[in-house]
Amino acid sequence: MTRIEEIFCQRTARSAARAVAAQAVMPGGDTRAAAYHLPYPLTIERGEGPFVHDVDGNRYVDLVNNYTSLVHGHAYPPIVEAICSAAKHSTAWAARCDGQVELATLLAARVASVDKLRFTNSGTEAAMLAMQIARAATGRAKILMARHGYHGSHEDTEIGLIGMEGPRTYLAEFGNVESFECALREHGHEIACVLLEPVMGSAGMVPAPAGFLAAVEKAAHRAGALFILDEVICFRLATGGAQSLHGITPDLTMFGKLIGGGLPVGAVGGRDDLLALTDPGKGMMFVSGTFNGNPVTTAAGVVSVHELTADRIDAMSRHADALRAGLERAAARCSLPLSVNQAGSLLNIFFTTEPPAATIVRTDHEQMRLFHLAALNRGVFLAPRGMIVLSTVVTDAIVEGVLECLHAAFADLAAEIL
Ligand code: PMP
Repeated sequence: MTRIEEIFCQRTARSAARAVAAQAVMPGGDTRAAAYHLPYPLTIERGEGPFVHDVDGNRYVDLVNNYTSLVHGHAYPPIVEAICSAAKHSTAWAARCDGQVELATLLAARVASVDKLRFTNSGTEAAMLAMQIARAATGRAKILMARHGYHGSHEDTEIGLIGMEGPRTYLAEFGNVESFECALREHGHEIACVLLEPVMGSAGMVPAPAGFLAAVEKAAHRAGALFILDEVICFRLATGGAQSLHGITPDLTMFGKLIGGGLPVGAVGGRDDLLALTDPGKGMMFVSGTFNGNPVTTAAGVVSVHELTADRIDAMSRHADALRAGLERAAARCSLPLSVNQAGSLLNIFFTTEPPAATIVRTDHEQMRLFHLAALNRGVFLAPRGMIVLSTVVTDAIVEGVLECLHAAFADLAAEIL
């Protein structure tokens, strides 16, 4: 065992015991693969603002923010208030609530391509619904997505993350227009939709090159396929979503994460004629869900979206720029190679001089694994894959504090591997 792992185990004995208990009732003690890591993930008992606290009494600056859903940090008071006052009047009922219409109106006003919207309970479900609409609209069965892209835990899309094609899934290379054009030329007659992220999140925050999304959108339309943009994590990049930065008008857009204010959520928005296929009055598709658009989630979502202003988006990006520059300096001082992918407030670090095409093909697994634990030992909570996500409640002082801790964690890593 390395010194970093020894310290991790010493500091987190209660989490270790909780991991053993969890294994008795959940496979691997886990219910969420992206957050799993060895020797065991922590048990966190509470969060507030930019911090989380584990069951051993350690406090961490949280740079994961629940994989982007907590854009205003933990237990943001206006959101807690909205949740509590909504919950006082019940958590769900089998009829419309005003919150649904308010959140849908807010999103349609912000995102130019969204005429109408339909809610789900996760980004995964949003992808399933978007694909279902595309299949119904085109009469075709297959999808085309980027190799190593991620659109949730559904078979047709999940295989793309690991780079495999499947019975209903074709892959092309992210950032390579030619590759998408070629797939569409060859298989276009079978393809219902092209699904893309503006920044490949799970792959390590790989931003789409300028012009790429617009060119693929055009190629999809030439082939008679729909163009679907996955804004589940990228909606935070501009008030009009990442699509407003790329000058594109997707047929359908998938939302999730921050639009639920920290509660489970998803949505598909887009062209009126396409969303009309889900209109229950027309009887073409049966799309339902016990918790779709429930009053608590939508109340939290309205506050979350409403408070995500252009100024706050800029402030998050400035903090991310400072963090990135500081990390690059600190790694250089410790003689460690470091590369950083960044899109606004979204970052991913790699211990290589160039970032890989995707996290799955990275070559620095061991360095990343140890650095993740070293960062936890120093009081900074990162995603095991090196993803860093800021929130609107991060301050200059928090950024400075994080840089000090992570500089020390770089030194810990260097002592172990150099
Ligand atoms: N799309 C993207 C781009 C995502 O990052 C995620 C979740 N990480 C999803 C879809 C799936 O969302 P959920 O976890 O809410 O099912």
